[in-house]
Amino acid sequence: MCKDMSPLELAIQFHGHICPGLLMGVRAAQLAMDQLSLERDRDEDLVAIVETDSCGVDALQAILGCTFGKGNLIFKDYGKAVYTVIDRSSGRALRIAQLRRASGGTAGQRYRELKGRTDLNQAEQEELEQALQDLFEEIMTCPYEELFNWKEVRVDLPPRAHIYNTLTCAGCGEGVMEPRAIKSGDRVLCQPCFEVQKGGNTDV
Ligand SMILES: [Zn+2]
Ligand SMILES: [Zn+2]
Repeated sequence: MCKDMSPLELAIQFHGHICPGLLMGVRAAQLAMDQLSLERDRDEDLVAIVETDSCGVDALQAILGCTFGKGNLIFKDYGKAVYTVIDRSSGRALRIAQLRRASGGTAGQRYRELKGRTDLNQAEQEELEQALQDLFEEIMTCPYEELFNWKEVRVDLPPRAHIYNTLTCAGCGEGVMEPRAIKSGDRVLCQPCFEVQKGGNTDV
């Protein structure tokens, strides 16, 4: 990770494009850093619990270093733009709930109108580009209060990521992490092979 990049640049590079949802995530990450007095490069101590899997989560991964692969990003599939950021070292946790859709502000209104149409002429196409720029600007500059509700909460910290033994599945021969392996009689199976076996049994 390049330390010279701004949080915004990190997020755009990680996500692959710039979009209103990503920018909401950038603001949420900044809010967490402000409120929890976090510094960059302390990401081993941070955990993020995210209740959505949309664009904004990538900003939290890029900026806070809470990533799927490190095990300090916990996904709860609630379909809510809510992020809880926990600092293990201080024990503090901030729950951030997004108040509006990314394109829900005044600048977003024209953007949504134009974006929904397929018959844009050249002038309208340019207007759409401008509306999007205005929306980006609005999200990045408007007060946190217009974007989020937030409060400190108590969270029971999840255990740190573990390294588990790898067992060999008797069905496919591939490795499977021990806590995810399923004992079936005297055989050890991975979940997909177990499902197949189960399906096979009920079909008979
Ligand atoms: Zn996006
Ligand atoms: Zn298998």
